[in-house]
Amino acid sequence: MTTPSTPAVDLRSDTLTRPTAGMRRAMVEAEVGDDMYGEDPTVAALQARVAGLLGHEAALFVPSGTMGNQIGVQVLVPAGQELICDAEAHLVTYESGAAAAFGGISTRTWQGRGGQLDVDEIMAMVRPEGYYTVPTRAIAVEQTGNRAGGTVIDIEVLRRLRAAAEQAGVAMHCDGARLWNAHVATGVPLAEYGRLFETVSVCLSKGLGAPVGSLVVASAGRIEAARRVRQRMGGAMRQSGILAAAGLYALDNHLDRLAVDHARAARLAEAMAAVGACDPQRVATNIVPVDLGPSGWLAPRFAAAAAELGVRVSAFGPTTVRLVTHLDVDDDGVETAIGVLTGLLSR
Ligand SMILES: *Cc1c(COP(=O)(O)O)cnc(C)c1O
Repeated sequence: MTTPSTPAVDLRSDTLTRPTAGMRRAMVEAEVGDDMYGEDPTVAALQARVAGLLGHEAALFVPSGTMGNQIGVQVLVPAGQELICDAEAHLVTYESGAAAAFGGISTRTWQGRGGQLDVDEIMAMVRPEGYYTVPTRAIAVEQTGNRAGGTVIDIEVLRRLRAAAEQAGVAMHCDGARLWNAHVATGVPLAEYGRLFETVSVCLSKGLGAPVGSLVVASAGRIEAARRVRQRMGGAMRQSGILAAAGLYALDNHLDRLAVDHARAARLAEAMAAVGACDPQRVATNIVPVDLGPSGWLAPRFAAAAAELGVRVSAFGPTTVRLVTHLDVDDDGVETAIGVLTGLLSR
C-alpha cells in the first residue's frame, strides 16, 4: 500500500483510538498497588463503578473483551454442557475456540437474523437435563451486534428472552463490548440491560477510547469464581491501576460523546445510501455496513483503493465493507471519507 499524502481517516474499527492527552495524564497520576493482593485502589474503584453502572454486585477487570466473555461463560456453563448463541457472535467467530479449548463448553448456534432475536426459536433449542444429553446452561446475546453492523436488540425482546430463560432454568450472558453504544442510542439505563443477565462483559477499549481493558460483572459469588478463571487463563495483573485509570477517565469523558459517533455514522450512512450502497435504517449506532454489490467492487480491492486515497475501511465480506466511527475521526474526516468512498462507488 502506498502512503497517503494526508493522514488516513481510519474507519476500520473503534479499537484504533489512541489515548488522549487527558487520559494519558490520568494514567500517569494513577494510584496503584498489587491487584493480585487486592491492593490496587484504582482497579477497585473502576470495578465498583462499572458494577454499579450495570446494576450488579461486583466486577472484575480483565485484559480483553475476549477474556471477559470467556470468564462470563465459563462461570455459567460447566465442561461438557452447552452454551447457545447467534452463529455470527464474537464468542464463536473471533475467540479461537476458547470456550471449547479452555472451558470444555459445547456451543450450538442459531442462524443470524441481522443481530435480532427470535425468542421462541431460541427457547425451542434449549435441551433438558439427562445423563446422556448436553444440557443447555446459558444463552449468550451480543449487544450491540458487531458483525450485524452495530445493531441494537430492543429491551422488550431481551426482557421476554430473560423471562423465558429464567423459567427454563437457563442463565444469560451478555457480550456487551459495545453495550455503552446501545445505552447511548436508546436511552435505556445500563442497569436495565445489566440486570437481565447473570454475567455481562464490557469493553473500555472500543468506543470509550481506553488503550486496554474490559470488565466482567456479576454477583459477588460469581465474581469470586471469575477471579479463579481469570487466574487460570493468565489474566490477573499487578499494578493494573495504570490501565484502570484510563477506564475511569473514559467513563467520565467519553461515554456521553458516543452520541457524536452515532450522528457521524448516520451521516455516513445517508451519504452511502445516496449512492445505493447502504440501508440507513439498519444503522443504529457507530457501525455502517456498505454494500458494494451494485457497484461491482470486491471488498479487498475497494479497501485498497480507498486506502490509497487516505481512507481506511475494513473488508468485511466478499462485497461488504464496514465503516466504524470513533473518537479519532472528526467531522472533516467523515466528509473526506464521503468524498473518497462515493467517488469510488460511482466509478
Ligand atoms: C471487540 C469485541 C470483543 C472482544 O474484545 P477484545 O478486547 O478484542 O478481545 C467481544 N465481543 C464483541 C462483540 C466485540 O466487538
